[in-house]
Amino acid sequence: MAFALNTYPVTYRSKFSDGKWSGEYLEKPHKTPEEEAAMNDNERKALESSRNCYDDMPLVNYTSQYGLACFEGLKAFPQKNDSLAIFRPDRNAVRFARSMEGLQMPPFPQELFVNACIETVKRNAALGFLTRYKNEWEKDSFMTADSIYIRPFTISEGGIGVNLSSEPYVMVINTPVSSYFSSCSSDAVVTDRIRATPNGTGWIKACSNYVISALAKSEALSAGYMECVFLDATHRSYIEEGSSCNIFFYLKSGELATPELSDTILPGITRESIICLARDKGLKVSERKISIDEALEETRECFVSGTAAGATPICSLTYHGKKAQFNGGKTGELTSDIRDTIKGIQYGKLPDTKGWMVTIA
Ligand SMILES: *Cc1c(COP(=O)(O)O)cnc(C)c1O
Repeated sequence: MAFALNTYPVTYRSKFSDGKWSGEYLEKPHKTPEEEAAMNDNERKALESSRNCYDDMPLVNYTSQYGLACFEGLKAFPQKNDSLAIFRPDRNAVRFARSMEGLQMPPFPQELFVNACIETVKRNAALGFLTRYKNEWEKDSFMTADSIYIRPFTISEGGIGVNLSSEPYVMVINTPVSSYFSSCSSDAVVTDRIRATPNGTGWIKACSNYVISALAKSEALSAGYMECVFLDATHRSYIEEGSSCNIFFYLKSGELATPELSDTILPGITRESIICLARDKGLKVSERKISIDEALEETRECFVSGTAAGATPICSLTYHGKKAQFNGGKTGELTSDIRDTIKGIQYGKLPDTKGWMVTIA
């Protein structure tokens, strides 16, 4: 179930009109989780697709016609004491509002955002739709652990001419998710495609940005790689991001470097958290330009970061046929340490000294 479309029944929908947001929780068709598990595949698919239908929403709109929309992705993690806790929803709330402003939509209030994330998870859990903590996850440092994915997103009001959205919908759906990358370690390739350009929308979690990412990722997979890496649009020489994750290089000098934020880089919350955790560990962390040459020559370990990826090792990087392997192709010590620390905090195995986890009562 790496990332299947199997949404839980309760969703949230808010609409901006007459200068205000009005939200509601919708309980889409469902049975009990046990009854659903016992259904045959066709029956279950029919039920699940009925949960993905909203007859009272406009199909022709600026999102479906022109890709005008943004989204968020965050997770609720099952805790050992059987509660659920969300990782840093306040940070996603800030970014969502900024993304909407960047697309010249009325921003969704941060408090409503956090509340809708908590409340959808809580209401789904009350119906039995949740994942519970398993002790066996601790054996591989939560590499194969499940969680609940929370996906807030915008959809525009109906419209056909090229236009901006002044009365968008904000939706929040939940879906179960397991680990994102199928292997623990991956070969990456530098793509010639350009994800984001200066003065563009790269810093916004905009749906339209993902067209290039999906094309580049699919080309990388066909060529036998697990991930692609983008270079900057202007010089074609500085590292920017992975397909949908930020990227870190642990250099031979002992410095942990990640590309500095700009309007072509998505400010990841995992990125921000890893920078903080690594500094706490006493590492020298820098946010700066990293050329592809430096990355190929000076890297000891490399990993990508994101809500879906966590911290996932990149074991080699290939650029125009030249391949650099890192740490003998194995997951490095620092990468494992960072991954264990962040997962440990998220699943409640390590103390949450930063106050990052929001427990759902
Ligand atoms: C969402 C996203 C990330 C990771 O952000 P997180 O907040 O860590 O999940 C990185 N790059 C891109 C392009 C993204 O869309």
